[in-house]
Amino acid sequence: MYDLIIIGAGPSGLTAALYAGRYRLQTLVLEKMVVGGQILLSSTIENFPGFPGGITTQELIERFKGQVDELGVPFETAQVIQISEDIDSETSLYSVKTEEKTLQTKTIIIATGAHWKHLGVPGEHKLVGRGTSYCATCDAPFFKNKKVVVVGGGDKAIEEAIYLTSYASKVTIVHRREGFRAADILLEKAKANQKIEFALDCKVVEILGENKVEAVKVRNLKTDKTGELACDGVFIFIGINPNTEFIKNELETNDAGFIITDNHMRTSKLGIYACGDCREKSLYQVINGCAEGAVAAHSVHTFLMNSK
Ligand code: NAP
Repeated sequence: MYDLIIIGAGPSGLTAALYAGRYRLQTLVLEKMVVGGQILLSSTIENFPGFPGGITTQELIERFKGQVDELGVPFETAQVIQISEDIDSETSLYSVKTEEKTLQTKTIIIATGAHWKHLGVPGEHKLVGRGTSYCATCDAPFFKNKKVVVVGGGDKAIEEAIYLTSYASKVTIVHRREGFRAADILLEKAKANQKIEFALDCKVVEILGENKVEAVKVRNLKTDKTGELACDGVFIFIGINPNTEFIKNELETNDAGFIITDNHMRTSKLGIYACGDCREKSLYQVINGCAEGAVAAHSVHTFLMNSK
């Protein structure tokens, strides 16, 4: 029986674990894949304070994990499929059900993050792993001296387009309007890069190719004209969906499934907290994900102290 189960071991969950360990809470961290989460799909991070010139995401996560390990907080690899109120027990409040067992805990921090959205166009699904990709860090080396298309106009798309130029001979950013969500500093870098071209006011409507990507069909949204752009790969970075399917109707979420919390990271249920990219907020960054993890662990500590 735990004081706290943290679900998810990305930057936010790891920071919650760090603080929980320092509060000496009986804590368990559950992670379904690898410690580090979605951030590991990016190669480097340039805007985490304290690392001028940036740091690889791999190293940053190793540092986070090492700091938690010093406190002896245990981790288990397990996918949570349900959380529910534990009405049979007098001591615990919640049951956390994984594919293998059911665990009891007084509190829960949900830090399950998000995953990349798919375009949903013909050819996309069929050509995943054969030119269609959602991870430049994983797949960029396959496109040495080749032409690739990047879809999206947010931080992720621009950051990864720049990264892809270390391998590809040409990167075309296809974005559906002229304005960008991405930070100006990233856009300036992309515009100054000789290998990057832009196709604005355009949408990818189909990914073409039999056994591998050969081109994308692009529609100009202003002229309504459709054309083909020859390429060997398509990288899709059009935003995120929260990993919150397992909470079903247990907690209040917005329409897209992001968990609604207050400033203390409290969800709609007493004793359950959420932090990081799975919650509704205005800024999805490692820095505030970490801060939210710290706040969530602090709130758990306060809650447990007050319930004694
Ligand atoms: P995002 O900021 O939500 O941007 C998504 C982009 O994809 C937008 O340009 C959007 O166009 C476009 N888009 C959405 N649906 C589309 C569709 N169906 N077809 C074509 N285009 C579509 O997502 P993100 O760049 O993945 O970033 C997610 C979050 O992580 C953001 O909060 C971001 O700031 C953060 N992040 C930060 C960093 C960093 O600071 N180093 C790096 C990566 C990500 P519209 O603009 O027209 O809607």
